[in-house]
Formats: sequence, structure tokens, C-alpha cells
Amino acid sequence: MVKISNCLECNQCCNFEPYVGKVFTEQKLAKYFSFNSRLCKTFFNKIEDKYIFGRYCKQYNAGKCDLYHGDLFPFACAIYPFIIASKPKGGYKLVIDRNCPHWRVVVDNTDQLFDVVKKYAINDAIDTFPEKDLIRMGYKIITIQDDIHIT
Ligand code: SF4
Ligand code: SF4
Repeated sequence: MVKISNCLECNQCCNFEPYVGKVFTEQKLAKYFSFNSRLCKTFFNKIEDKYIFGRYCKQYNAGKCDLYHGDLFPFACAIYPFIIASKPKGGYKLVIDRNCPHWRVVVDNTDQLFDVVKKYAINDAIDTFPEKDLIRMGYKIITIQDDIHIT
């Protein structure tokens, strides 16, 4: 898999600095950060039943992602700064996060995006996040497409 954009590698979206050292069960990571089980295992080291926030995602080494271009590269990372948000009344929408300094460059790049969606859908590996949680967590989202199908 490849990342949708030519990422600037500013490392912002791999950096968990505000939470470094904090420890959460998978249930709490789901509740507070909307991370599914697959993302918890990918991003964090685990001790017994708790995941620990490092400064960076655990796949981030020497300034690069170890999973980049590999089959295990998470969907959420492959499409970021796009995000698939679940809507309060059901269904999904495509949003973009203006926290990424590259968002203006990729905002019109939805053709490539939907190719990536199809590839991950085959493996049932699509990550989605409730829209209200994205706003609560500080994502500066704007809607790109209000009704999308991801299966
Ligand atoms: S925030 Fe945007 S530009 Fe920076 S590493 Fe993430 S995707 Fe790349
Ligand atoms: S899996 Fe790679 S791109 Fe995704 S947060 Fe971790 S280091 Fe960053």
C-alpha cells in the first residue's frame, strides 16, 4: 500500500507527545481516542493489558515509518489527512484535517483516495472515527464529501 499524498514527513501525525507515558486499556483508547484494536496494536507498546503512549507511534524509527509502503500500513495513516468519519445518524462522510500542513495540496486528490479505500476494504481494514470524537480530540475537520460508501 502507498500513502495517498506526497507527505512532507513533518511527523506531526505520528507524534503523541501530549500523552507520552500515559497508559490506557484498549477499551479506554477506544473511548477517548476512537482507536480500534488494530490501531492500538500498531501504534503502542503493551505491558500486560495496558497500552503505553510513547512520544511517537511505535512504528516510527529514525524519522521514518517502518510500515510505510508495507501491507500492514494502517488505512488511517494511508489516507491521512483525509479521514473517514462516521456520522451521528449513520453512514460515513469524508473529511480532511487541516492540522496537516499538507492538506491543501491533497484536498482535490479524491480519485487516488477511493482507489486506496477499495484496496483496504477487500481486507476489511478500513479505520473510521466518529465525527463528534474527531472534533473533541482537536481535529480541524472540514467535510469533503458528505455521503460515501466504504464497502
Ligand atoms: S501531518 Fe501531513 S505532512 Fe505531516 S507527516 Fe502527517 S500526513 Fe505528512
Ligand atoms: S503507522 Fe507509521 S504513519 Fe502511522 S502513525 Fe505509526 S509511524 Fe506514523
